Amino acid sequence: MTLKDDLEQWRKKLNAVLDEGDALHERVADLEKENALLQERLMNGDKTDGFEAVTKIYDEGYHICPANFGRTRDEECLFCLNFLLHKGKKDV
Ligand SMILES: [Zn+2]
Repeated sequence: MTLKDDLEQWRKKLNAVLDEGDALHERVADLEKENALLQERLMNGDKTDGFEAVTKIYDEGYHICPANFGRTRDEECLFCLNFLLHKGKKDV
């Protein structure tokens, strides 16, 4: 393998890393937007009916439990459900 081949391989690897960095940058930007939206909705919800707003956020597929707050949820979460159950009883 020549020095030129080495350099070419190194350049390909560098480009791959740069592409990965761009993808990560986009992902972070998306998550920041999503987080800002959720926070805004939670704040606005608190002014009207916080419990209803939090329930809606959970129903839309996000965690509302402190450990995973704002993260997407693929299945039911016992911590979230426990929070909703507890909060619901307290408010009624
Ligand atoms: Zn949860």
